[in-house]
Amino acid sequence: MDLNALYRAVIMDNYKNPKNKGLVKTDKYHFVHLNNPSCGDDMNVEIYIEDGIVKEVHHDGHGCSICCSSASVMSETLTGKTVSEAKKLIAEFYELVMGKEPEDEEALGEAIAYMGVKDFPARIKCATLSWKAIEKAISEVESNGK
Ligand code: ZN
Repeated sequence: MDLNALYRAVIMDNYKNPKNKGLVKTDKYHFVHLNNPSCGDDMNVEIYIEDGIVKEVHHDGHGCSICCSSASVMSETLTGKTVSEAKKLIAEFYELVMGKEPEDEEALGEAIAYMGVKDFPARIKCATLSWKAIEKAISEVESNGK
């Protein structure tokens, strides 16, 4: 099996049919906006955490296929995880796109498709933008207690 072709298919599928796209923007959610001027990517995310579990993750934004598809994959990967699992997965995703072997490939799910980004250093910021946004949202929720 050609893994690169499989990974490209995952990325294009999440770009064309993004999951969890669209913000609700009620008080229930914690909202974060980040952008990546080097590519023109613009990303909004919102998260709902209850009892230490990531219940819902939504994203909305525009940018390149790597950035937009990654937001969809991020939302799917983190939903249903505990906050500590989510933080670990975010850290593992950063390592993956930098070219490090993931500790738990299965837990990363479709996010593994971004492994090839390591060969395109300019795109690392695209792949990680939504993950950085949700990481910020989680840490703000943790310090606000919301
Ligand atoms: Zn981009």
